[in-house]
Amino acid sequence: MTLTDATTASPTRPPFKPGQLFIGGQWKGASDGARRDVLDPATGQRITDVAAATTADVDAAVAAARASFDSGVWSRLSGRERGRVLLKAHDLMRARAEELAQTESADAGKPITFARVVDVEHAALQYEYAASLGQHLDGSVRETPANTHAYVRHEPLGVVAAITPFNFPLILSSTKIAPALVAGNSIVHKPASDTPLTALLMAEILQEAGVPDGVFNVVTGSGATLGDHLVGHPDVDKVAFTGSTEVGAHAAALAGKTLKSFTAELGGNAANIVFADADLDQAIGTVIQAFVFNAGQFCMAGPRLLVERPIYDLVLGILRDAVPGVPFGDTTDPATVIGPLASADQLHKVEALVDRAKQEGATVVTGGERVDLDGGFYYRPTVLAGLTNEASAVQEEVFGPVLTVQPFDTEDEAVQLANSTPYGLASGIQTTNLAKAHRVAARLDAGICWVNGWAMLDPAVPFGGVKASGWGREYGPEVLHSYQRTKSIVISLDEGAAR
Ligand code: NAP
Repeated sequence: MTLTDATTASPTRPPFKPGQLFIGGQWKGASDGARRDVLDPATGQRITDVAAATTADVDAAVAAARASFDSGVWSRLSGRERGRVLLKAHDLMRARAEELAQTESADAGKPITFARVVDVEHAALQYEYAASLGQHLDGSVRETPANTHAYVRHEPLGVVAAITPFNFPLILSSTKIAPALVAGNSIVHKPASDTPLTALLMAEILQEAGVPDGVFNVVTGSGATLGDHLVGHPDVDKVAFTGSTEVGAHAAALAGKTLKSFTAELGGNAANIVFADADLDQAIGTVIQAFVFNAGQFCMAGPRLLVERPIYDLVLGILRDAVPGVPFGDTTDPATVIGPLASADQLHKVEALVDRAKQEGATVVTGGERVDLDGGFYYRPTVLAGLTNEASAVQEEVFGPVLTVQPFDTEDEAVQLANSTPYGLASGIQTTNLAKAHRVAARLDAGICWVNGWAMLDPAVPFGGVKASGWGREYGPEVLHSYQRTKSIVISLDEGAAR
């Protein structure tokens, strides 16, 4: 299916507009008319193009967001009223779920089943959950001396720049946009250059749901060209960034110069610890899911497998037999589990990292090469053993379907190895010993720890990193801290004070 087929399915709404930005409720081309092709990673073929925004377009989007915020058309509605609009957006997403899934699959190279049941489903849940937060934007009254009345309000921050990476475009934009909106902010969203399409569909959906013009704006274009301008813009109050640690640190430093609020959801390199007492069938399923899901382009992937020595050889043997059998290839086939990498660049990065691992002494248990298939950016799921803990494939974020396997002898050693990289986003423990699970989970340097499973995410459960994986939390009621400022109001109850 081409993008045009997917997006002209309904006669009741305008078709997707190639080459257009969404600013102030209007569709318009880049100020210099420039466009950028969007490729299907499964074929390498062009599917459409989008506008390549200029810094002047960023200025226009920020100005539209600022004006809408200051007008109070959205920022001064009650949380309940904003929540109702988000619920409408949620309903529209469900009504257009297949179109969103087809678009995400073609844009990001996602197997269609996962685009449906993970990407669209989870993104819609973000809107539903954020709408419920709109019922609870409560302030509080503080106990103070009898001649004052003090209360605390939680107010929107203003204009939020929401910058997202290529790997889960719809989910990651929704985790920012839905809570930022329910809190009353206006938004300029810059999606990743490689996967910008669902952001534009969401502009249609949010407008139809009733988000006023100017409150949600989308600028597509290169982060290298636009990023610093958007992050440093004096009329942007907050930057909500998800992406690599390198770019996030650069953007955080720039935001720091103007003392903007900044949240950073950055890279990961999670360890998955399998103890010898684990239910092995369940654990192996989890291990494979944790490194092949989304072709390993998954901030919370588990690319570092730590296996207790008594079952180390057994686990390697099972992986050698099982991994090549995971359905791989055509993203339009509902049975496919592993699709291509999202871009030629990403493929080259993964290829280079595995080649370096081989030079550093890795044994290739399975995989270890790219696959020529339909002109797409495919890399075979790969298991590497025999590396030291210092090897680059162990220490660096791979962001591809690559698993390194290391043995450990004691609980202390497992914790030490798990915590030994700069990252701290996710972690996992596979064991049937509940006491051990609690003990180890408490010692892992990570924002989230899954026991006997992987990537068990829910909009109600806070998510975010420590160390080089960033700061701030998304999901859960905690997300509101990222999009609100606290104001204290103290009123004198002294009769003479107001005269
Ligand atoms: P990236 O290269 O850091 O890009 C992220 C976003 O930043 C893109 O929209 C990019 O635009 C933009 N950007 C580039 N330069 C910028 C600048 N100077 N200022 C502001 N923005 C700029 O990351 P990616 O390769 O797309 O995504 C993969 C990374 O994201 C991985 O490290 C992964 O772990 C991380 N990630 C983290 C989470 C989490 O929740 N912690 C979730 C998903 C992904 P362009 O696309 O135009 O370059």
